[in-house]
Amino acid sequence: MHNIDLHIHSIHSDGTCTIPEIIQLAKQCGLTTLAITDHDTMKGVKEAILEGTKEGIQVIPGMEISTNYKGNDIHILGYGMDPDDEKLKPVFEFVQNDRKERNQTILKKMQADGIEIQESDIQSKEIFGRPHFARILVEQGVATSISDAFERFLGQDQKYYVPRRYLDMHQAIDIIHACHGKAVLAHPFQYQFSKEELDSFLQDAIHMGIDGLETYYTGYTDSQIHFLKDYAQNYVLIVTCGSDFHGDNKPEIKLGKLKYK
Ligand code: AMP
Ligand code: FE
Ligand code: FE
Ligand code: ZN
Repeated sequence: MHNIDLHIHSIHSDGTCTIPEIIQLAKQCGLTTLAITDHDTMKGVKEAILEGTKEGIQVIPGMEISTNYKGNDIHILGYGMDPDDEKLKPVFEFVQNDRKERNQTILKKMQADGIEIQESDIQSKEIFGRPHFARILVEQGVATSISDAFERFLGQDQKYYVPRRYLDMHQAIDIIHACHGKAVLAHPFQYQFSKEELDSFLQDAIHMGIDGLETYYTGYTDSQIHFLKDYAQNYVLIVTCGSDFHGDNKPEIKLGKLKYK
């Protein structure tokens, strides 16, 4: 698995690299297989397959869907779906309509504070979310960095925070399966669950039909990786590896640089 990265964001969601840039970076670091897993869209997938083929890199179709599980924002990675599958359209529409409404609220809050942001800024992308608002705050000197923008303005309970609506986790898994895809639980340790909560969450995920656990993830410790590997083995789940590369939006995360044991 040394040359695989199955969790990558591009400019189609909140990454800063274009698809050709990602393929070139992947080539430089010797990746043989990758998946573009933009948030709630598969817009970059076809271009990635095309560009990947030119460089001999296998590209697996992917997407990362934000879902709701008992009030928690849980990310499900879907792999292998056809981006044009009609069954995905309601998912894309649901997310885009919700974002449209939410972005209007955030826009008005920012404009009321004198921040220069226009309707056309948020219409420039299919998926325009908090990282893009964060970037505008940095460009205008209101925040010093993306993480500062989240900490002081866009994070939960901060002044520009507006919640999103999510698909239920089991619905997202069902849709991925209906599209003949595999559903993998993204970064299982990112959800602030206690040990007991994590165990009951993983059991629920298994009952909902989750196919795999993202086990090798940027920053995960040996013991975390070991735990997920064991868990996957016990319940016959796929083990995947992904960096969660976002380009300059998360500069500490490098493409394809994961620890494998
Ligand atoms: P949204 O879907 O619009 O609510 O934005 C969520 C995205 O913001 C996540 O997928 C992350 O990529 C990014 N994000 C969340 N928290 C932070 C943070 N503290 N610093 C940088 N990016 C963040
Ligand atoms: Fe993201
Ligand atoms: Fe995620
Ligand atoms: Zn991600």
